[in-house]
Amino acid sequence: MRISIIGLEDARFDRQLTLIANLFFEETEIVKVLDDEANLTIKFRINEDNHIKVSAELLDAEGKSLSSDFQKEVQPFQTDKEYFKQIKNAVAHVHLTLLQNWTGVTQKWGILTGVRPTKLLHRKVQEGVNKEIAHQQLKEEYLITDEKIKLMQHIVDRQLAIVPDLYDLQKEVSIYIGIPFCPTKCAYCTFPAYAINGRQGSVDSFLGGLHYEIRKIGEWLKEKGVRITTVYYGGGTPTSITAEEMDMLYEEMYDSFPDVETIREITVEAGRPDTITPEKLEVLKKWKIDRISINPQSYTQETLKAIGRHHTVKETIDKYHLAREMGMNNINMDLIIGLPGEGITEFKHSLAETEKLMPESLTVHTLSFKRASEMTKNKDKYKVAGRDEVEQMMNLATEWTESHGYAPYYLYRQKNILGNLENVGYAFPNQESIYNIMIMEEQQTIIGLGCGAASKFIDPHTGKITQFANPKDPKTYNESFETYTEQKIKILNELFSQKGSPA
Ligand code: SF4
Repeated sequence: MRISIIGLEDARFDRQLTLIANLFFEETEIVKVLDDEANLTIKFRINEDNHIKVSAELLDAEGKSLSSDFQKEVQPFQTDKEYFKQIKNAVAHVHLTLLQNWTGVTQKWGILTGVRPTKLLHRKVQEGVNKEIAHQQLKEEYLITDEKIKLMQHIVDRQLAIVPDLYDLQKEVSIYIGIPFCPTKCAYCTFPAYAINGRQGSVDSFLGGLHYEIRKIGEWLKEKGVRITTVYYGGGTPTSITAEEMDMLYEEMYDSFPDVETIREITVEAGRPDTITPEKLEVLKKWKIDRISINPQSYTQETLKAIGRHHTVKETIDKYHLAREMGMNNINMDLIIGLPGEGITEFKHSLAETEKLMPESLTVHTLSFKRASEMTKNKDKYKVAGRDEVEQMMNLATEWTESHGYAPYYLYRQKNILGNLENVGYAFPNQESIYNIMIMEEQQTIIGLGCGAASKFIDPHTGKITQFANPKDPKTYNESFETYTEQKIKILNELFSQKGSPA
């Protein structure tokens, strides 16, 4: 789709114009001149005084025309950037309305294209805005539909019930530990995940580096008296290493980190059932791991084959029962809506199978075509459901979880997600993952250790976020983990040693 945009010369509009157009069309090219080849031409006009007024006319190749306008009182601002953001929002408003009217498609998340919509509502709660007014603002400012506002409110309420001190956790940190190995690589995957077979040398060196990072960061936390809220082992698949290696790793965690007994939650992703053994479950129990994930993604065997997961549906079910028998009492399972070849029938089947297991939490993802995945590179080969069907499956998930006692407690969105929908984590009351809330709501620093681990440093005073990524591939990690650890400690020192530090 080629769209000619006139009247918005400032390049700071470009990214948002493209992101919004991409909500409607496969691939959009925005040109900022009149262009005979364009499928659509949109002419904008902006007037600024004590109100920002944006109006626009859309003309398509068949000569059909539509118009829209929006005006809003200028809100107090401190910087030019803040003021420009208000103009950008008004432009997005008009742009989205025109494309909605032209295509007949309503974007339930309105002009929001970011990953964490619930953060917006949390901010309003923190500012003391009354609930009804907050909802009205979300509707007017961002064009979010009532259905999604209700979902956001539900989630924010749940999160505050689970973590009542959520807004006061800047003085603590959470830890993410990335183990970059998996039995095989799934077709939709863009995580740092390397097939483990034949790589023992690389695994050994990697674990050496990871132990080092845990020790060093543990020393720093103890020295500064900073407590840990949650720990999350992800990857890759953290259970693809051996039971002995897991045992030594958790021992290191207990030796190095401060007060491990008081950490609110430790999760280990055991996502791939083909990595789970009785010995590994023993180790998880020995070290009091609170929560694991065993991920079916789908209960249709052909789908698993098509996406490169070399395990059977039966294996998922068997390993789930094994984990239960061995005492794991908080198990999460992930399902993905819209996997290749899957529609309502397959998804209903997955829900029916889930009903037989009833894990404590269920995370429902909507398939996302991430640029680097095998699936995206060979998009023609993978037949996926259309927007309406994806939406129906999402609705099925909402109804099913509600009628089976689960409540939504976190959500995030991705770019190129089917149907522009969302990923939602559901759980039985009091079985939610606190780490998932921490990562989504960005209320505290998360220190990433290991391969591909992203750290997110939140300034306890200003809320400013600094990202820092460890190398994705084990080779680079093995060569440089000491430097990366040093850099993280430097940032931590700056944040936690400021005057009036919350530590
Ligand atoms: S199990 Fe997860 S991390 Fe591993 S390859 Fe598959 S999607 Fe990627």
